[in-house]
Amino acid sequence: MSTQKGTIGVTTENIFPVIKKFLYSDHEIFLRELVSNAIDATQKLKTLASFGEYKGELGDMNVHVTVDKEAGTLTVSDHGIGMTADDVEKYINQIAFSGAEEFLEKYKDNANAIIGHFGLGFYSAFMVAKKVEIRSLSYKDGAEAVRWECDGSPEYTMEAIEKTTRGTDIILYIDDENKKFLEQNEVDLLLKKYCRFLPVPVISGKEQEWKDGKYVDTDRDKVINNTEPTWTKKPSELTDEDYRNFYHELYPGQEDPLFWIHLNVDYPFNLTGILFFPKIKNNFEITKNRIQLYCNQVYVTDSVEGVVPEFMMLLQGVIDSPDIPLNVSRSYLQSDTAVKKISGYITKKVASRLEDIFKTDRPDFEKKWDDIKIFIEYGMLTDQKFCDAAMKFVLLKDTDNKYYTLEEYRTLIEGSQTDKDGNVVYLYATDPVAQYTYINAATEKGYNVLLMDGQLDSHFIGMLESKLEKSRFVRVDSDVVENLIPKSDKKEVSLSANERDMLTELFRSQIPAVDKAEFLVSFEALSPEANPILITQNEYMRRMKDMAAMQPGMSFYGELPDSYNLIVNTESDVIKRIKDAADNALMPKLQPIFDTIADNNTKAQAIRDNAKDGKLSDEDQNQIKHFDETVTHQRAEKKKVTEEYASAQPLVKQVIDLALLANGLLRGQHLNDFIRRSVTLL
Ligand code: ADP
Repeated sequence: MSTQKGTIGVTTENIFPVIKKFLYSDHEIFLRELVSNAIDATQKLKTLASFGEYKGELGDMNVHVTVDKEAGTLTVSDHGIGMTADDVEKYINQIAFSGAEEFLEKYKDNANAIIGHFGLGFYSAFMVAKKVEIRSLSYKDGAEAVRWECDGSPEYTMEAIEKTTRGTDIILYIDDENKKFLEQNEVDLLLKKYCRFLPVPVISGKEQEWKDGKYVDTDRDKVINNTEPTWTKKPSELTDEDYRNFYHELYPGQEDPLFWIHLNVDYPFNLTGILFFPKIKNNFEITKNRIQLYCNQVYVTDSVEGVVPEFMMLLQGVIDSPDIPLNVSRSYLQSDTAVKKISGYITKKVASRLEDIFKTDRPDFEKKWDDIKIFIEYGMLTDQKFCDAAMKFVLLKDTDNKYYTLEEYRTLIEGSQTDKDGNVVYLYATDPVAQYTYINAATEKGYNVLLMDGQLDSHFIGMLESKLEKSRFVRVDSDVVENLIPKSDKKEVSLSANERDMLTELFRSQIPAVDKAEFLVSFEALSPEANPILITQNEYMRRMKDMAAMQPGMSFYGELPDSYNLIVNTESDVIKRIKDAADNALMPKLQPIFDTIADNNTKAQAIRDNAKDGKLSDEDQNQIKHFDETVTHQRAEKKKVTEEYASAQPLVKQVIDLALLANGLLRGQHLNDFIRRSVTLL
């Protein structure tokens, strides 16, 4: 063959400056592209040999990546099928593409997209090289070796050369801006990132050893990759230890994973991989050690958004599929139907594997539950299909640390925790220490209380309420135990209207001012053993406030004061004593006030009732105004008298403070007053 000169077949005037300019941010992928080509060529030859189409010696089939700092070259060599001059003409010279400029402009920030779109893998070499040389000898009988050279302009040179070893050397003359790729360390880093699990041994540099105070090269070749990564093996051939070791190979320095799932499909798409459930300690680890995507063992990316369902972003491991269109932009990836199917498949597989573990080793599943709970709840909240599958194995934990499935739990509580309308009431606590008295009261009554202290539990409860028929979740401190699960045999409070009025004023006047809190006094005939005063928080309001704290749009609820119910137990001995004393000492003073108020109200009402056609004369209005003013005045008087009386009753303050104390609401000065008063009372 005579030396041939020609122009590379692209329609753009000069593609190389474009490649260099636009692709620099991702330019390290050139090595991945060249090494993958070398691996492909090697595997093709192995395949031909196995079919008997190549009968020669295979010899050394490793891929070599060689740095020659002096010559300024980086060489990727293989002993694969090689190329004839015709092959080079066809595969390297004729890059067919149209509308190139437009496309390059659109994807200028995404080297993967451009390179994949045009099959430009080889040309990515020009991102780091001022000149590229190919020296190749095809496996074909009687083939003539060929040398191709191009300096980054659209012109190339091609000629016959002497080359006796089969295969291809790609020699990159590294340009000045990319000198770092002439450092063995730098090359090692790239190879470790992209070529770590390639199926053919990749050799670069020598193994080193410690000698005379420094590392020196030995004469042993350094193999970069593990050619048979665990995910490519059959699950039946692997032990738990193998999986753990592989996990640590992927993510050094992490704790053992909780579970793993070996993925293996060949229809309707090809996919292998292993997903690990990590022991999540902090958010940093989640974002750092992510699932890695491979395409035939070539590392592609760890940006897997859109390929795996969102909730699985909490998992780690490897997914390998030749069917994921990897060299495309993220938005393209997400709209791809094959990718959508893959995502659905992974969901199904993860759910069925979890169910499996639950069925075969429940004690182990329970032991790990607290760690995987966030993942399962997240999945159930965001993925309908996963949710349906997980209803079978999602666990509820009670305040005694016992675990139940949804079905088991319903069976457990149905008998005692069904209210008068036939709803099953699920009681739960979010803080076993702060809500101790309420949990205790509920369990003493024979109820069971769930522990719902996870980050997602408030959302999860809402979801369960919508899924489980005739069921309601009620936080254990949202009402007194008698009212948590309303039954028909509830005892009525026996107070006259005036007594109720007097006692309301009496207690309200002694509630210390607690920051951002409002109290509503009410009365319940609870059991005599129950606390004299209980403080509860309305379930609905509390949930709204909890949600407001997590969702910015709901700040209206967040700004409302905390409103509490201060419930006075009229059956309690102490309250009875307080009431009797007030009946004796306070009521005689209040009675005339109550009478005056009632009298004035009646008179005002009578005028309104007598008005013709609902119209009031000026005279009528004046009279009503007078009666109303008297009422207002008398009310103020009532308040003053009650307050005077109440403030002289240390017992009233004491029972209120005890209730505040039980809820962590008694602080600072008020706490100090309480302690002093207690000492005096002793
Ligand atoms: P792609 O690999 O996507 O086809 P490339 O530009 O990387 O695109 O390579 C184009 C073609 O050149 C390959 O399909 C292959 O036929 C040939 N080729 C590249 N490198 C080698 C090699 N080391 N040995 C044999 N053929 C090669």
